[in-house]
Amino acid sequence: MQQRIEFSSWRRLSAGFLIGAVIAAVLLAIWSTGSFSTVRARLNDTYYVERDTGDTVVIVAIDNQSLDTYGRFAEWPRTLYADFVNIMAENCVRVVVFDILFADPSQDEAADQALTEAMLNARCPANRARTRIVMPISGEPRSVEAPNDIVRFDYWVRPEPQFAQSTSNTGFVNVLPDNDGAIRWQPMRGTSSLTDDAAVELSLSAVTYLAYHRISRETMDPVVDYRRGVLQLAGLDVPLDDQGRLMVNYFGRPESDDSFAVYSFADVLARKVDAAALNDKIVLLGVMNATGINDNYPIPSGFEENSMAGVAIHANIIESLLQEKFILPQDSTSQGVLIAAFAILSSLLYAQFRWRGIAVMAPVLTIGWVLLAILYANGIAPAIYNDSHIHTLNLLDPALALLLPAPAVLALNLYLETRRREWTEMLLESAVNASGKQLQLAGILESIASDTRRLTGVNSLVEIWLMGSEGFKPAYPPDSPGLHRTLAQRSLDSGKVENEGPLVAVPLIWRDKKLGTILIETDRRVNVFRRRVLTLFGWQTASILTNAELYQASLELSDLKTRMIRIASHDLNYPIGAVIGYSEIMLDIMETETEHARFIESILTAATQMEAIVSDILNLERVRSGHLTIEPFDLRDIVSLTTNSYQYQMEQKELTLTLRLPDDFPIINGDQSQIREAIGSLVSNAVKYTQRGGTIRVTLQVVDNMARITVADNGPGIPREAQAQLFQEFYRVRSRATADIEGTGLGLSLVKSVADAHGGRVWLESEEGKGSRFYMDLPINGS
Ligand code: ADP
Repeated sequence: MQQRIEFSSWRRLSAGFLIGAVIAAVLLAIWSTGSFSTVRARLNDTYYVERDTGDTVVIVAIDNQSLDTYGRFAEWPRTLYADFVNIMAENCVRVVVFDILFADPSQDEAADQALTEAMLNARCPANRARTRIVMPISGEPRSVEAPNDIVRFDYWVRPEPQFAQSTSNTGFVNVLPDNDGAIRWQPMRGTSSLTDDAAVELSLSAVTYLAYHRISRETMDPVVDYRRGVLQLAGLDVPLDDQGRLMVNYFGRPESDDSFAVYSFADVLARKVDAAALNDKIVLLGVMNATGINDNYPIPSGFEENSMAGVAIHANIIESLLQEKFILPQDSTSQGVLIAAFAILSSLLYAQFRWRGIAVMAPVLTIGWVLLAILYANGIAPAIYNDSHIHTLNLLDPALALLLPAPAVLALNLYLETRRREWTEMLLESAVNASGKQLQLAGILESIASDTRRLTGVNSLVEIWLMGSEGFKPAYPPDSPGLHRTLAQRSLDSGKVENEGPLVAVPLIWRDKKLGTILIETDRRVNVFRRRVLTLFGWQTASILTNAELYQASLELSDLKTRMIRIASHDLNYPIGAVIGYSEIMLDIMETETEHARFIESILTAATQMEAIVSDILNLERVRSGHLTIEPFDLRDIVSLTTNSYQYQMEQKELTLTLRLPDDFPIINGDQSQIREAIGSLVSNAVKYTQRGGTIRVTLQVVDNMARITVADNGPGIPREAQAQLFQEFYRVRSRATADIEGTGLGLSLVKSVADAHGGRVWLESEEGKGSRFYMDLPINGS
């Protein structure tokens, strides 16, 4: 029989699973909106991993200095770019990348022609190696959907055909922001769906990489391959996410010392830049630090300033490809599975916790939350997850999933535990209440009914049915009409809490004994928990009722016994008196020393012994009957009178008596004759059991506001193992020292009864062979 108000572990597990599933669903819903990455990205950019910038990529900036030199950017003649390409070729630049669109023909046809020719003729004078030109395509608008890992743009803006044909490669420049608006992605393959031009293009960085390896548009196809998740560029495997995007790996700001070399367009055209700085490099030309031209995009917060020129972003992406250093984002399926699994597993785990578990878990989780918050907020994450540990980043989502269910599940557990304790307390209280009714049936029923109302609502109606000699009937309230017999009977038969509409029946069954049913009419819902509590309450109530019944029976039995003993004793009194009387008369008239006389002496001794037993029994019964005649008296008188009445016996045994009475002693209230009887018993024992020549000390004093009578002797003492039973009726010690001494075993139980009746107590200290010391404490103010 399970005696606890408790969810079974199975129930706890399934509850944990349910909560976990709900939390997982909620988490997944939040996650699918991208909020997880937003939080992650907002708090800090965990994708940013600082690396050493290589020296292959050089930026030529169309900056304020260039604007000062050549005027408004929009009005620049294309001859400037033709010169630029020529200078690049002169300096043996390997790839020139334009981050500027040449989508329209200019008014100046000759200038366009000059640029075209410059591009077609760009060769390093020393080794005749071609300087390859890369021009951008731009997709519009930038919002995209990405089926088949190809980004679809509404339409392309391409370079003028004559330019496009003179370049070695074109690639689209679009980069994509993450949920927080910062640029983190570049789609690697894209197409335009709304124009006739549906060719699949590669990104600017991809074609630049190919151009760097001297692979032009015409020779590109055989070395480019794509299978899900990986773009192969001339033997280089570029890992892409499940939307075909490459995560941008930032190497550093172009302005910083350890970053890309940046030269002003004006300086380059003025041939102020060292040939060595350009030789065999990839040169990106684009707008940067030019007032009034906004080519800046938000970038992750790993950098101090949160924006970067488009050309620098491209430089970073190209550098990733050159160094083959990629950030591998976790694919969304494994992210989702991890989040769901962690949410469910952690909920299952947390659901097992009870008070102690919660107490231990709460601080652990708090520390977890704080650590996570610090990681996110202080930007420690990039430092910790630097470089090769980038995969560790993938644990952040599971960590969130691990921590998020904790408050919910722990709060639920805390609630359940609190309820469980409340119910337990209530049951305990109810047991105490019912037991406090002196085990009287009417009182117990009343108390059960009121506790039932506490459990099921103050307004509920309670009826208690009991199985009695007259059958199954309502016993409470006294005049109950006893409707709903069927439900009461059904619950008793099934042994379970049954309900029917607003009616609930709780069976009262104790150890297979069917005692009855509590019927309740309540408007409260009987959930699993309440059902469990009611079942326990039923068991508890049944046990109390059983005890009350047994107690009543034992009371009746004990009453019967007392009456019989009393009758027997009274009835024996007279015949024993007659035997003693006649024996004495016969002894008087007979000649002594004859055999007959000795027989009669034996009869007299035996009868006197019987008289003592009967008198002891009657004394004890009188005390037990509870009739006390309380009156004030001086205990000193009683002690000295009683003690002195044993003077003769003491002299016979040559015992020394010391009687110590205080000069001042309060008057006490009590039954004088009973107390005299008790003290007499203690002194008589001392006299009886102490060897010839021994010492007896009787003392009266006030200790702790009690009158204490001490009777001490240096007799045989009492074995330790016998001491506990000494005050029981008819108990006698079976030790060699006292075996021959006659007695009834009733004296000390009388002493105890007297002390109890007066609200006092008796006890002893004794050591075998050394003596005994009996104490009796009586309250000074009497009872
Ligand atoms: P009774 O003396 O009639 O046998 P009591 O109830 O007075 O019955 O005592 C119970 C037992 O306790 C005695 O049988 C005796 O063995 C032991 N006892 C009582 N008082 C003393 C004592 N002062 N010294 C040693 N034994 C004692």
